[in-house]
Amino acid sequence: MTLEQLKTALDQQFDIVGFIKTEQYQQALRALDKPVLSIPFKTMAVVGLSYPKRIIKHTDTHLIPSFYTFGRDYHDVLKNRIKQALDPLGIQYDLGVDNHPHNERLAATLAGLGFMGKNQLIINQDYGSYMFLGLVFLDIDIEKPFVLEVNDSCGDCKICIDACPTNALYEGGYHVSKCMSHYNQTKRVLTDVEIEKNYALFGCDICQMVCPKNVNKGKVVHEEFLLSGKEAVSIIDLFNDSEKTFKEKYADMAYLWKGKTILMRNALMLLSRSHNSKYNDLIEQSIEKYTMPWYQDTAIKVLKKLKG
Ligand code: SF4
Ligand code: SF4
Repeated sequence: MTLEQLKTALDQQFDIVGFIKTEQYQQALRALDKPVLSIPFKTMAVVGLSYPKRIIKHTDTHLIPSFYTFGRDYHDVLKNRIKQALDPLGIQYDLGVDNHPHNERLAATLAGLGFMGKNQLIINQDYGSYMFLGLVFLDIDIEKPFVLEVNDSCGDCKICIDACPTNALYEGGYHVSKCMSHYNQTKRVLTDVEIEKNYALFGCDICQMVCPKNVNKGKVVHEEFLLSGKEAVSIIDLFNDSEKTFKEKYADMAYLWKGKTILMRNALMLLSRSHNSKYNDLIEQSIEKYTMPWYQDTAIKVLKKLKG
C-alpha cells in the first residue's frame, strides 16, 4: 500500500488530509512536556471535514444548540467516512474522532491542516475553523510526511479574546473551565454568573463567529450535515419525555452525548435569560424528579427568578 493510494482514498471522503510520522507527533508532545502514549502504528493521517455555519434563533418553544451539532453527529459521520475510504483497501488501521486520548489539534498543526488560533481552534485557509478533525493510525511506514503548507497566523488580532463572554481566552492560552462550551457540558453546580451568561442549549459559537478568518467560510454543506429539523429542541420534549423517548426522537444529534438532563439544565438558563415563565410548572415537577445537585441548584435559582 502506498501513501498515494491512501491519500487518494481519504481525499475522496475528506476536504483536507495530511500524513505525519507517529514518531514526529510523539516528539512534539515530548517537547511540550505532555504525556506520550504508546501508539502501535508508524503513520498518522489527520483528516478534516468542513461543516456549515448556520444561524437559528431560539423561540418561546424551541431552543438551539451550537451550530456544529446541526445535522448528523459528526463523530459517526467522520468514522463512517474513514471506514468507507479505508475498509476496501484491506489495511490495518485505528481511528479516533474527538473522544480519545490523543491531541488532535497538535497532530493537525503538524500535518499542516491549519494553524492554532488564539480561539484554540485549528484555522484552515479554505475552511476557517469550521472543520471537524479525525485521526487515523496506519500500519504503513512512510518515507517522509505529506504535510500541507500553512502561511498564516492570528498576528496582532485578538478579537476572539475580547469577544469571549467568560474571559476564557488570553494571549497564548485558555482557561478551559471558564469556557461556556465546557461548563454547559459539565455536570457541576454553576455560579450565578455562569448561569446568567449562558446563551446556548449546548456549546458556544462566539469565538468562531467573530473570527475574521471565518469570513465567507462555512459554506460547504456535506449531505450528512443537511438540516433535519432536530436542531431546534422542543422545551416540552425536554421536560416531558423520558430519556429513552427523547433519545429516539432526537437520534443522531451530537448534543445528545451528555444525556437529556444536561440539556434541561441548560434550557433553564435560557428560560431565565428570556424571562419565559410558561414552563414554571414543568420546572417545579423536574425539581422533584431530578435530585442531582448540579441540576437542582440551577433549577431552584431559575424558578425563583422566573416567579420573580
Ligand atoms: S467557546 Fe465561547 S466561552 Fe469558550 S472560548 Fe470561545 S467564546 Fe469563550
Ligand atoms: S479572532 Fe483573531 S485572534 Fe482570534 S482566532 Fe481569529 S484571527 Fe486569531
